[in-house]
Amino acid sequence: MPSEYSKYLQSLNDRQREAACSDISVPLMIVAGPGSGKTSTMVGRVLMLLNKGISPSNILAMTFTTAAASEMRDRIGAVAGKATAKELPISTFHSFSLQLCRLHAEKLERTPDFLIYGHSHQRRAVIEAIRLLEKENQTIQNNDSLKSAEDGNLGPECFKDTSKKWLKFVTQAKASGESPADYVKLGNKTGAAILGNYNDILRSCNALDYHDLISCSVKLLTNFPEVFKECQDSWKAIVIDEFQDTSAMQYTLLKLLASHNRITIVGDDDQSIFSFNGADSSGFDSFRHDYPTYKEIRLNKNYRSTRYIVEAASSLIKNNIRRCQLKDILTDNSSGSKVIIKECQNDEAQCNFVVDKIVETVSEATSDKPSYGNIAILYRRQVSGKPFQIAFRDRKIPFNVHGVAFYRKKVVKAIIAMLRTTIPGCDDDGAYRQVFKALLPFDKEEKKMVIGHIDKISITRKCPFVSAARDIFTAKVSGTFKRSQLTQGRKVLTTLEMISKLIHREQSISAVITSAANMVPQKYLLEQRAVVDVDGGKLLNEDNDMRSVLQYLLDDVTDFMSTPIAKKEEGSSDNTMEEKGCAKQLKAFLEYVAEREKENFRSRRQDNNNSVTLTTIHQSKGLEWDVVFIIKANDSEIPLLYEYNGVAKEHGNSIEEERRLLYVAMTRARKKLFILYVTVDSNWQMLQPSRFLREIPNHLREIQADVCLQDLEPKCPRILKVSANSADGIANEKESPEFDTKPDKPCNKDQIDSASEETMEAIEAYNSNGFIKRFAVED
Ligand code: ATP
Ligand code: MG
Repeated sequence: MPSEYSKYLQSLNDRQREAACSDISVPLMIVAGPGSGKTSTMVGRVLMLLNKGISPSNILAMTFTTAAASEMRDRIGAVAGKATAKELPISTFHSFSLQLCRLHAEKLERTPDFLIYGHSHQRRAVIEAIRLLEKENQTIQNNDSLKSAEDGNLGPECFKDTSKKWLKFVTQAKASGESPADYVKLGNKTGAAILGNYNDILRSCNALDYHDLISCSVKLLTNFPEVFKECQDSWKAIVIDEFQDTSAMQYTLLKLLASHNRITIVGDDDQSIFSFNGADSSGFDSFRHDYPTYKEIRLNKNYRSTRYIVEAASSLIKNNIRRCQLKDILTDNSSGSKVIIKECQNDEAQCNFVVDKIVETVSEATSDKPSYGNIAILYRRQVSGKPFQIAFRDRKIPFNVHGVAFYRKKVVKAIIAMLRTTIPGCDDDGAYRQVFKALLPFDKEEKKMVIGHIDKISITRKCPFVSAARDIFTAKVSGTFKRSQLTQGRKVLTTLEMISKLIHREQSISAVITSAANMVPQKYLLEQRAVVDVDGGKLLNEDNDMRSVLQYLLDDVTDFMSTPIAKKEEGSSDNTMEEKGCAKQLKAFLEYVAEREKENFRSRRQDNNNSVTLTTIHQSKGLEWDVVFIIKANDSEIPLLYEYNGVAKEHGNSIEEERRLLYVAMTRARKKLFILYVTVDSNWQMLQPSRFLREIPNHLREIQADVCLQDLEPKCPRILKVSANSADGIANEKESPEFDTKPDKPCNKDQIDSASEETMEAIEAYNSNGFIKRFAVED
């Protein structure tokens, strides 16, 4: 064994080493809490596989986010060398499936260069599916609004509600792998017809959506023995990190790939926070059932955090009743300082407190003071991070934003849209609309009028947006436009044509992107400046806004060029006439970008190591920092609530998943943890601190607040009598017959397993009792 490998394995503790070195033909399951070295053990496992002579290209390492994938690659590279790590196909489920589907596209009735439909394409396809159904003379709800749209009265907005509803339906059907026939059986004819039409549209457009990627991979492995054999030969061993985030469909795919039993899964059900994506931690039970010879190893020592942080997080998660595996996490680390719970009057005060604290922390006179790179700000929603970007810029603090903040910027969207429209045959209305918004040098109102008119013509004539625009600007269709508007519209179309010519001539996508970026008018940039000039945490002045955006994009092109798909397109010699130059590569790059957008992650760059990280909690998984600020820990954010008839309700996710979210956030901190909440929002509405804060015992927290959290002192889970809310907002009492009658007695797992649906509902309501009761009283 190479000495680096054995040195690494020696650095693990006994249980970790036992797991890493256990027989590779026995399915292995590592279940452990945060910071206990799961990912570290997994790295050891990969080293063992390499040492057993399995080639790196035959080891499939899968994880859930691109962040986690690059984290794993870095850790393996540090021991086995960058070259070996590069050869390892570490991938997310989606990128793995994409490659498999491309390879066997003809079996899916597609060509290998099929398109990936993101959200806006899916929406269009759903609208088309509804229209088709209407043509088939079937009734669907809301058809009045559809009619008005056909009359061209309301513009595209009128489709919003109907299409939203059906888009949600189609997405859910896809996520659970249901076919139109399943809906026919359920008697939902309209649903079956829309789903069927949607699938037909995607087939005729040579496209797949994100859910299709996983289900089509399953189909390929199930229906085509040659594909199955090929995968068995290719993937001699499979390792999965963050297993708790695997959806049922992804698990089915895994099971097919790992029919040879050389599978290692690593996870923590307490950190399952992606149920909205179909993730389901019952995967652990399925694994036990499907691989009866499995070996299970538990790790219980936290190496990451100080004792106060570990105990505070454990106290919180103990309130979850539905836990698959109860884990006691211990640590030998020092106690450190208590978890600081800080009340702030509003967002601005919260921002000031955090920024001051960061400045104070990095200026400490101690030798182990944290640098900017060891500090993170975590939040539930991207929008909460925005004021920090501006404050950091003003205070000259370097920062980087995880997530897709970059690709959501209007300027970036405009450039991407321009690139999209240059792909031969593009009929993406959204992209053209965006390009017009960016390139027309008019004021906002004028632009809105021009685009609205094009939309109207496109709907009444049932033609694509770009054709309508062409007809208007070449005066084939009359309109109430001024001469200058017609001239500018024509100019925009000419510009698009110019770039599309460029992609046939140029050999590099970087050159095409640079040209597209240079065409965005300064006026549009200035309009968007507030968003642009805080990009990437760099201190920018007005002149170089676009330079920084462009640099960011070009960096992503460099990342993309190192992917196998880019190399394949580079080397392909079968380019058709209209796809000469870099057209194919550009198409692949746009898919790459769309995937990043989907995964909601902006990969960490080496040069961001000395900047404060701003990230959503979801994207912080698996990562760690010395100092962590969890901001906006309010009831309404964590847990996320919405109002229904004036009464706050939970937002889809169960309260237990919301608690897990805070648990994940708290366990990212190594040394210092601040949890902040605000008392009023920007509309002067009173806000409550997160109900979860009362679950952190007094001796582990230091409260810095005017209004004390005393009213919210911890309550024992009391299951017998629970308050449930009826839709009209009147609280009523519900009995849970299965449980012991003694108050304050927590129920056990067996009771939960045997509980009725109604009782489970009651328990959920109980968990949010404090909040709902207060609301009900106020009502
Ligand atoms: P999470 O659940 O958050 O993904 P994890 O269980 O994957 O956490 P790691 O990220 O592997 O945990 O490890 C957490 C920290 O503990 C890392 O900084 C790692 O280097 C350190 N660590 C892990 N194992 C050991 C060990 N045996 N000795 C010393 N440090 C360790
Ligand atoms: Mg990990």
